[in-house]
Amino acid sequence: LSFSSCNLPEKIQHNLELAGYEIPTPVQMQAIPAALIGKNLLVSADTGSGKTASFLVPIISRCANFRLKYPSDRKRPLAMVMEPTRELCVQVEEQAKLLGKGLPFKTALVVGGDAMAKQIYRIQQGVELIVGTPGRLIDLLTKHDIELDEVSVLVLDEVDCMLQRGFRDQVMQVFQALTQPQVLMYSATIPPEVEKMANSIAKDLVFVSA
Ligand code: AMP
Repeated sequence: LSFSSCNLPEKIQHNLELAGYEIPTPVQMQAIPAALIGKNLLVSADTGSGKTASFLVPIISRCANFRLKYPSDRKRPLAMVMEPTRELCVQVEEQAKLLGKGLPFKTALVVGGDAMAKQIYRIQQGVELIVGTPGRLIDLLTKHDIELDEVSVLVLDEVDCMLQRGFRDQVMQVFQALTQPQVLMYSATIPPEVEKMANSIAKDLVFVSA
């Protein structure tokens, strides 16, 4: 499988080339086509496997297609990525900007350490993707008037790490605030508690291990 056989918008194809991504990694080969057709995934993948692009490519593709089909002045967020740390959020957002260049694809960070008001303002101006940590995302959806009903893809990255840090209830609260999104879950290890949470979130899970 190659990126060009995935039927991606031409700009993404071009951005992948510019980034030097010529051949999809094993996790990308399995996760990208499944995510593009709307499957819920539980992916066992480590850092370094190319997992970040394996969820960003389908997200960017879907967002760009949606905006082209339904141009609107009120651009509500379409996708959300949850990471256990601020640093991971920053890295994911950087890669998202790189791969989404030239497309209708804007991102917002929702993490500690920056003024919340600035992050809210950016979302209100219209973004496609929100990347955040559980605590700040809960703040966003409980204390602020942000419409998240169009978020149709949710990525839970480093699920094992999230559970170790005690974020289970926060992750579930964010998931439940959304309107039945497609869920893409990633974890380095899949202990029983990760599998249990994944099954409680999504039916018809596709397992990917690379
Ligand atoms: P990740 O596992 O998402 O942390 O990605 C690990 C590194 O691999 C990052 O620096 C990416 O930029 C890079 N990368 C991801 N996909 C590819 C690919 N298909 N070809 C070459 N490099 C890649």
